[in-house]
Amino acid sequence: MAFRLLVTAGDGIGPEVTREAVAVLHQVFERSGRSLDLQEKRIGGIAIDTDGTPLPQETLDAALSADAVLLGAVGGTQWNALPPNTRPEAGLLQLRAALGGFANLRPAFSIAELASNSPLKLDVVSGADILFVRELLGGLYFGAPREWNRATGEAWNTMRYTREEIVRVARIAFDLARKRRRKLTSVDKANVLEVSQLWRATVTEVAADYPDVTLEHQLVDSMAMLIMTSPRNYDVVLTENLFGDILSDESAVITGSLGMLPSATIGGKVNLYEPIHGSAPDIAGKGLANPLGAILTAALVLRHSAGMDAEAVAIESAVRKALEQGFRTADLARGNTTDFTVLSTTAMGQKIRELL
Ligand code: NAD
Repeated sequence: MAFRLLVTAGDGIGPEVTREAVAVLHQVFERSGRSLDLQEKRIGGIAIDTDGTPLPQETLDAALSADAVLLGAVGGTQWNALPPNTRPEAGLLQLRAALGGFANLRPAFSIAELASNSPLKLDVVSGADILFVRELLGGLYFGAPREWNRATGEAWNTMRYTREEIVRVARIAFDLARKRRRKLTSVDKANVLEVSQLWRATVTEVAADYPDVTLEHQLVDSMAMLIMTSPRNYDVVLTENLFGDILSDESAVITGSLGMLPSATIGGKVNLYEPIHGSAPDIAGKGLANPLGAILTAALVLRHSAGMDAEAVAIESAVRKALEQGFRTADLARGNTTDFTVLSTTAMGQKIRELL
């Protein structure tokens, strides 16, 4: 059966990096003999200019009937003056909410050839390979009541979780740990917060179904330090929404470049895949964008939505090979540039397809 992929390339470097990811997917599907039914729709600033809204109904309908959605990035300075709920970023938030994914997967890994890009010491980051599983629809960002009472000078938010919300994201994290190094670290603040005590008790309960996975609990404050001092100790890291937001951004320094990192949001009606970087208006249209984050995102599409894990591994190997052979985009070519061959966005895409 054809795999139905909706591509929403968006703004700035979004279309530039997405083009390379899509070319890689075409090559993979052609070779596998499976057909790829690909549709493209507008989202973000380009949709505001063309359709008057950052998320046209047509795009939303196409997303809801696809097997997966691959997004580039949205946003740009020309739309910054619009009210927040009509800006390009609002389209992406609406799409995420409509698709309903509750588990955000964000890898943080060290590639030996890029380790010098990380501000951390080589012997600390070398070999690190963490997969964050962040709960995305609960916790402090969504809990009610929430209010800023200007009259009394008080404000409050509510960190609320139900047992069911914790069970469903924990199961995803344990399943992923099973396919990796079988270690799961659950992050909470159970020494202070009741919601974290529920989190810890529930994750421990779910662990009974996964005797082959080692579970450990860490408090979020010490975890913030441990990830930086000993990132190699971690495999899958499971967090609630706020803690995951902070820790996964912190961990991006392990890889050393924003342009390298993919993400997937799964568990809802349709999975949403996007590189973690934004639309990078400062380099848009110059052929400088690193397409590897988008290409690694395409690998996640294959792994988590298309059931094509071997093909996902092949893409990841091709990316490593390109780096081993000294090929870089401008953002990765720090230090002694004579050691590298610096490629444009399209040339790096082409190189990955050659190495696949
Ligand atoms: P950004 O990620 O776009 O850029 C931050 C820095 O990283 C810039 O210097 C940029 O040139 C560089 N960079 C980012 N991706 C790169 C790549 N693939 N290759 C090489 N260099 C890369 O973040 P920002 O500057 O804070 O935001 C720019 C716009 O993107 C804003 O409108 C913001 O709202 C939007 N944004 C969108 C998303 C998304 O669509 N998911 C995420 C973050 C920011």
